[in-house]
Amino acid sequence: MAVAQNIRCSHCGAPVEFKPGELVATCKYCGFTTVIETGAPFKFEHSLLLNKYNLAQADELIKRWMRSGFMKPSDLARKSKVLEKNLVYLPFWVVSVEAKTSYKGVFERISPPIVKDGKIQKAYNWLVLAREAAGFPTREYDVPLHGKIPYDFRKIEGFAKVLNSEIDREEALELTKQQIEAHHRYLLKQDVDKIIEIYTEINVEHAVYLHAPVWFVKYEYKGKTYQLILDGAAGISLKGDIPSSKF
Ligand SMILES: [Zn+2]
Repeated sequence: MAVAQNIRCSHCGAPVEFKPGELVATCKYCGFTTVIETGAPFKFEHSLLLNKYNLAQADELIKRWMRSGFMKPSDLARKSKVLEKNLVYLPFWVVSVEAKTSYKGVFERISPPIVKDGKIQKAYNWLVLAREAAGFPTREYDVPLHGKIPYDFRKIEGFAKVLNSEIDREEALELTKQQIEAHHRYLLKQDVDKIIEIYTEINVEHAVYLHAPVWFVKYEYKGKTYQLILDGAAGISLKGDIPSSKF
């Protein structure tokens, strides 16, 4: 069990709650963000994506998801029951980068094998989830970045939960590098079967700390529990367990 600790918000003086492992905390009374270790104000851009659905509208989204798609049991919307529906503002680092990978490898699908070299050059808004969130599909989440506004605590619903970051900017940049390199290694598999040399150069242009609204839903259908994750900004499902239907 994680125990919440307190520091004082240096902006409004209210207690700011945080849990062990969290590095950056946002005051729920004034929206001021503090680096926990030093107590100093957070000095990077902090953004927010707005949730567009109230509780009733979220129910509608859930029903719509249940009714759509031929993979689902036809009585899913009628026979299921929503057990839990939580709006959580998840913390992310969005790192804008130019990534260039040079490689040399062996293409073995022809005989004799040949040595090939090449480059992968791409620009990304790379998303790093700033904490552990059970089963959150970060790579499938296409953050609607055009909708971001400066963080505004007044826009956060009273029933919503705002999670703090467990990693700082430096760690986020490091993870971005590692993940992009791994991603490029994966892309390379189309081109070469064995990598001889690989070098990835990453130029960070910008990094934003972002809170994005995500609905975590638990529902019950025929005695079993399933999870559904919805994007509160775009209203689409990010991941949903579908009960197997018998034809
Ligand atoms: Zn405050």
